[in-house]
Parts: sequence; structure tokens; C-alpha cells
Amino acid sequence: AGTTKARPEWLKIRAKTGENYKQLKEIMRTQSLHTVCEEAHCPNLFECWEMRTATFMILGDICTRACRFCAVHTGRPNELDLREPERVADAVVAMGLEHVVITSVARDDLADGGASVFAETIRAVRRKVPTCSVEVLIPDFDGNWDALAAVLDARPDVLNHNIETVRRLSDSVRSRAKYDRTLELLRRSKEMAPDIPTKSSIMVGLGETFEEIYETMDDLRAVDVDILTIGQYLQPTAKHLPVVRYYTPTEFLRLRGEGLKRGFKHVESGPMVRSSYHAKDQVPWRQQE
Ligand code: SF4
Ligand code: SF4
Repeated sequence: AGTTKARPEWLKIRAKTGENYKQLKEIMRTQSLHTVCEEAHCPNLFECWEMRTATFMILGDICTRACRFCAVHTGRPNELDLREPERVADAVVAMGLEHVVITSVARDDLADGGASVFAETIRAVRRKVPTCSVEVLIPDFDGNWDALAAVLDARPDVLNHNIETVRRLSDSVRSRAKYDRTLELLRRSKEMAPDIPTKSSIMVGLGETFEEIYETMDDLRAVDVDILTIGQYLQPTAKHLPVVRYYTPTEFLRLRGEGLKRGFKHVESGPMVRSSYHAKDQVPWRQQE
């Protein structure tokens, strides 16, 4: 591992705080909920929360895995909190969200990987805010396809599962997750629920080549993935994988073009793009709005 180079100009963010932001942050504290927006210090927080989109992390904030790009802590997982689905739904109401992304740590300690809690959370949001679109960004449930079916039964608007990186780097970047299993999950989701759009995400800057990124795009299209996001990998701490390369805004545009050429219905590609960035605009029924 080397050291990460200095960040180019286009990745420097200016922090802003507004009344809206403070109010939303207060809601999070009082409900003891976790958002990826805050915990990952996401550069898009202000824009997303203004657009009434947020990403909640359910099932605790301690992961049973230790991916080498990810800032979430690894360890013994939190106890299951059966009231969490209702509290997420209450926060969706309080924040006036129009699109919510629900994600979680990997819970390899649970028989269903936490799928039933995902399903309950989707249902709770639906009951309380029928006009809010719901996207789930799920872990691989360790290949438990009944668990995947349970999530799809709750009818999310978008089923998101990240491939994260190209095939060659997958084993060294991700922990326990497998490149082919990710593709299988996305394929099975389409098979079980053909009308629910599938989505995946690639981080670039870990040492992959353009050719390898195109191969990963082809692999995702081969299992009929609809939506692709591509963003710059940033090293969260000195213990994480270093950034090998910063892609320029022009290169991100080129990647977007390559994605669209391959038939993805939507491609978000840019230095600051995260899996849930501009997610509201990708929901099919919202596009007529
Ligand atoms: Fe939150 Fe995702 Fe937006 Fe970042 S991109 S602020 S994680 S919703
Ligand atoms: Fe982070 Fe997800 Fe990997 Fe856990 S499984 S370390 S939350 S990327």
C-alpha cells in the first residue's frame, strides 16, 4: 500500500450548514437513527437533504465484515432493535422525505442476514408515507436467496446491490462478498421481480483499468441491471486502501457515455457520486412527475 495523493481541486468541498440541516440532524439524534449521509461524511449531504432524500443505515452501526474501503466499524453486532422500522418511518415523516434509501451493515450473524427487518422497514414507510419512494441497498445475505425474496416481497421501488469494483480487485477490496455472487443476486432479483428496477455501483480509483470497468459494465448488463452509479473512491482513514488514481470530471463523463451505450437506463457518474446520489430521479414512476 502506498500513500494517497493530494486531492484535486474538484474534490474539495465547502461545508455548509443551514436551518434545514440542523433541524434534520436533531431528528436523527432524538430518534437514535444512523444515516450514511452523516456517518460517511458524504459530500452530497446538503444537496440530498434539500432534495428530501436520505440514506438510513439499519441493523446497527457495527458490521460483521471488514471491507478495505469502508469506514464502518467491524465487531460484534448490535442487538436487534425491533422498533427500528417504525422509527425510520417516523423519521421519514418528520424529515418530509420523498425518497428514502435503506441500507445496512452486513449481519452474517443473523440467519436471514436482516432481510426481515428490511422488509418491515419498507412496509412501515409505505404505511406512513405512501408517496415516498423506497430504495433498498442490500448486503448479499451471504447468498441466502430466500432472504432476497423476503425483501422483494415487500416491493421496494428500486433494488440496489453494489458490485463496488472490478473482478480482478474484488477479493482484495471487499470482505467475504464475491464478484459472481453479486451478479447472481442481481440476476435472481430480476428473475423473481422483473418489474423492480435493479441498480449497482462502482467505485473507481482503486487501480482498475478502463477496460476492466467496461467489463464490469458488461457483466452488470448481462444480468439486466438498469441503473449504474460510478464515483471516485476516497480513502476514509490512513488504514484503508490508498487512492491509486483520481479520475477527472471528463473521464467520468466518458464512463457515463460508455454506460449509456451499453443500455443502462440511468448512469450517474462523477467524482462525488455515491450510490444514492440523485436516486429519486431514477425511480420509474417519478419520471413522469
Ligand atoms: Fe446521503 Fe446518499 Fe445523498 Fe450521500 S449521496 S447524502 S449518502 S443520500
Ligand atoms: Fe462496509 Fe458493507 Fe463491507 Fe460492512 S459489508 S464493511 S458496511 S461495505
